[in-house]
Amino acid sequence: MISKRTHCAEQLHLNRNMFQCPVCGAAMDTAMQKSLVCMHGHTFDIAKQGYVNLLTRPIHTHYDKTLFEARRRIIVGHGFFDPLIEALAEQIMGLMNDSAHILDLGCGEGSHLAKICQLLAIVQSNNIRGFGADLAKEGIQSAAKIYPNQNWLVADLAYPPFNVHLFDFVLNILSPSNYHTFDRMLKPGGSIIKVIPGSEYLRELRFSLFGEEKTHYSNADTFSLFQQHFPNALTQKISYTIPLNQEGIRDLIQMTPLTWNVSEMKRKQWLEKSSATITVAFEILVGSKSH
Ligand SMILES: [Zn+2]
Repeated sequence: MISKRTHCAEQLHLNRNMFQCPVCGAAMDTAMQKSLVCMHGHTFDIAKQGYVNLLTRPIHTHYDKTLFEARRRIIVGHGFFDPLIEALAEQIMGLMNDSAHILDLGCGEGSHLAKICQLLAIVQSNNIRGFGADLAKEGIQSAAKIYPNQNWLVADLAYPPFNVHLFDFVLNILSPSNYHTFDRMLKPGGSIIKVIPGSEYLRELRFSLFGEEKTHYSNADTFSLFQQHFPNALTQKISYTIPLNQEGIRDLIQMTPLTWNVSEMKRKQWLEKSSATITVAFEILVGSKSH
């Protein structure tokens, strides 16, 4: 069996024409199956876990290993995002031709992108290429470890290290928007698929943490900004409930930024529950870039 590093190097080599040096903008290629190097010698080593860190300076994020582990358990163990992921795969299937290059900006621990590529591969066996980029190294490390079929990069999400206009789809799932980047990354005719929380998202948790008036989340500003950039935007609302056991509740509390600034007492009330049913709601915004 080949090592993760070699496997990653082979995939990067296959996609070598897509990369652009984050330091100088020059073309890149793999070298000795060990690194990604630009023609001016800027070198980024392939980690043994099977990813490349293309950040030019360290960036601190709030997202650590514990958070990504909690997130992964709730995704895989409880199917927390399954209906959303199926809806995203369907959106892509409806829009794609015979191939798709997909970039997930802010991919975290990679489960969403990997699952979407898996679903697409069932109907389109070839030509699905997934690229996941995130600022948090801990997320990318976990992604590379578990999902070797996609390309995983630690990268600046404002300036992803790719040549312009290469992607058929850019995914932006519960992650901040950067419209300039979306435009640079998308092919003409390509689509941005953005997921934002629906107004009922985690309503049970919101109600008990913040009271009646903050039970509903407002995403109106995000939506109107999206529409300014993509006047042809289409939306799909999706909502379901998930039963969680005590372990699931703990993982949810750990992974959601909602609980980062609340009192220990309020957190504890949730951590001590033996079960709960949680509303999960999203809006999927789809916008296409003009030809
Ligand atoms: Zn360079």
